[in-house]
Amino acid sequence: MSILVYSELKDGKATKSGLEAVSYAKKASAVLGGDVTVITSGAIEGDGGMGAYGADKILNASEATSDSQQLTRLVAAAAESTGADTIIINHDATGKLVAPRVAVKLNAGIVAGAIDVPSNEGGFKVKKGVFSGKAIAEVTVTSAKRVVSITPNSFGLHEAAGAGVVESFSADLGGAKVKVKEFKPTSTDGSIPLPEADLVVSAGRGLKGPENWGMIEELAKELGAATACSRPVSDIGWRPHHEHVGQTGIAIRPTLYIAVGISGAIQHLAGVNASKVIVVINKDPEAPFFKAADYGIVGDAFEVVPKLLEAVKSFKNN
Ligand SMILES: Cc1cc2nc3c(=O)[nH]c(=O)nc-3n(C[C@H](O)[C@H](O)[C@H](O)COP(=O)(O)OP(=O)(O)OC[C@H]3O[C@@H](n4cnc5c(N)ncnc54)[C@H](O)[C@@H]3O)c2cc1C
Repeated sequence: MSILVYSELKDGKATKSGLEAVSYAKKASAVLGGDVTVITSGAIEGDGGMGAYGADKILNASEATSDSQQLTRLVAAAAESTGADTIIINHDATGKLVAPRVAVKLNAGIVAGAIDVPSNEGGFKVKKGVFSGKAIAEVTVTSAKRVVSITPNSFGLHEAAGAGVVESFSADLGGAKVKVKEFKPTSTDGSIPLPEADLVVSAGRGLKGPENWGMIEELAKELGAATACSRPVSDIGWRPHHEHVGQTGIAIRPTLYIAVGISGAIQHLAGVNASKVIVVINKDPEAPFFKAADYGIVGDAFEVVPKLLEAVKSFKNN
């Protein structure tokens, strides 16, 4: 048994979701046995911080690539070279493109969007969310090799000692069909990227217009949260598209999701209902979102949010 994880690097260090994948692999290794080997691409600083989360070996391809076909070749080559039978990748934008391709290359079974570590009782079984997170399915993989893509924020970061030995790795990545000319991070102002955020303040059409987002941004800033929005808000252009959460947007699992002036349509809930605690602020007591809320405030956002902001500030000052 041997486990291979793909972890993304940013500025030489594993990203938060990369570390979550390593944490997941370490926990899986306690069930499945074997070492945890990580495959990375691009410049790495030391062990990229992954040894502290259970990485025994880190294979580093110095050539950085974000092309999904090249990454597929890299991960598949590393899996073949290490003889890994379990390959773990994040179920993020990159992982959704890479994981199924790796599975095809290795003739492996795949569980996309796992939310728990595998169990090995009566076969290799993994739980995943289905029906937009409304139910959980336990999938049994019968093939000799398997690819598991894990839902971001479903497992968290868990420190665990690993040897953290770094070795260089080379594979024929082939030409990239897509050339990245420029890379612009979605949050240039140093704010937290939405998929990695633990706290999220989100708002919908109930806010009436983009000029009213100041209080949402301020609340998010005070809480150290990321901002999000419903789909019509980004469709109309009140907020950028990378903030749109839901079935057709980003699916998130923060610890706290505050929804302001959002009705709670099923397509919105599909991307946020796995949040640990949901707080809904809506002036309509019949808004569907209240059914999914842990805490609900029936009231006008323009009265409630400033009061909440005041309370957060005074809590922080004392
Ligand atoms: C195929 C498909 C995919 C979709 N994917 C997504 C998706 O990924 N994400 C998504 O969000 N939507 C998605 N939608 C759209 C979805 O169905 C809803 O239309 C959308 O979520 C509604 O956005 P909203 O709640 O901001 O606006 P509205 O439905 O207009 O609701 C506004 C809410 O604000 C409340 N409100 C109004 N004024 C105030 C105030 N002053 N204070 C407090 N509350 C107030 C109202 O009571 C209401 O509940 C999709 C739809 C389809 C058909």
